[in-house]
Amino acid sequence: MKPLDMALTTNKPINTWTKEEIKEIYNTPLMELVYQAQVQHRKHHNPQEVQLCTLLSIKTGGCTEDCKYCAQSNRYSTDVKAEKMIKIEEVLQKAQQAKDNGSTRFCMGAAWRDMTGRKSGLKRIGEMVTKINEMGMETCVTLGMVNEEQAADLKKAGLTAYNHNIDTSREHYPNVISTRSYDERLKTIDNVQKAGIKACTGGILGLGETEDDHIGFLYTLSTMEKHPESLPINRLVPIKGTPMEQELSKLPKDSNRKLKFENILKTIATARLIMPSSIIRLAAGRYTMKEHEQFLCFMAGCNAIFTGEKMLTTMCNGWDEDIELLRKWGLKPMKSFRKEKLPTTKIDDQPSPQPQPASANV
Ligand code: SF4
Repeated sequence: MKPLDMALTTNKPINTWTKEEIKEIYNTPLMELVYQAQVQHRKHHNPQEVQLCTLLSIKTGGCTEDCKYCAQSNRYSTDVKAEKMIKIEEVLQKAQQAKDNGSTRFCMGAAWRDMTGRKSGLKRIGEMVTKINEMGMETCVTLGMVNEEQAADLKKAGLTAYNHNIDTSREHYPNVISTRSYDERLKTIDNVQKAGIKACTGGILGLGETEDDHIGFLYTLSTMEKHPESLPINRLVPIKGTPMEQELSKLPKDSNRKLKFENILKTIATARLIMPSSIIRLAAGRYTMKEHEQFLCFMAGCNAIFTGEKMLTTMCNGWDEDIELLRKWGLKPMKSFRKEKLPTTKIDDQPSPQPQPASANV
């Protein structure tokens, strides 16, 4: 069976994709690819619903890691200054503001390598999570690497999801980060999933990677034992003072390492086809896209956006603008805690494919 047909006829997520199969899907003629991704989207999600999430930086800057694209690394000279963790009252007030504006998931980010030696910080974050959950919102945190014990503490606090991106393909990763390995990232994702927390993991497009790296990136995600519940796709906003901005500015105009919009679209559509039940989140850099480009990303299977005042250190489209955009396109905000996940299985274990109504699994 052709990989595209395999993706479209399965009732359960497949986690045995090969790079060749993913490549074949990725290279489907663009019009057909986006159309089939939309067909897939409608089988597994309510096509009218988009999840609105808001991200707050609770501890900005001063990070010891060397991610070449990041304004928060203390190794680079950027406009971001190291700050202390913000107070719980301020976090709750921002969460309430996000809720009042229609966001149903509230994400909190701290610029840390890991949670080692941060017992009291973890406790305070746990309190934030519990209180935000009580407000009826889903919670997500991104705090760097966590071990099983720390993941269990966050689960106890009621955390919905933990974000830890793989960033890019395994092959391209060493060109971007040297202070933590790809496998360390995968370990954290495994730790949170084992603790019963949903994994939010995706990456950044535009790090000087090639199309093969997009395929490698999707391969890592789609062969996880459990597909990510949430898959953020960021478009890099090059930050002055970071090595990545320097490197990208030196790429020749026709370099195959320069990100084209069609590659963002192909990555999203392929992700939708091979990870049908994941929520695909158009994340940082969305504000750099024209309206019709965002529209195409939704056609290709995106069903969540970050909205609010800021995306950590970059700009973000605001709530009013986004609500108006969704209204214009006939979409509506998703309620919190709505998605139910399909169990992951191997292709060989699957029952024969059955047609599903457009609203299945919602
Ligand atoms: S991306 Fe995260 S881990 Fe990497 S330098 Fe920035 S804050 Fe630190």
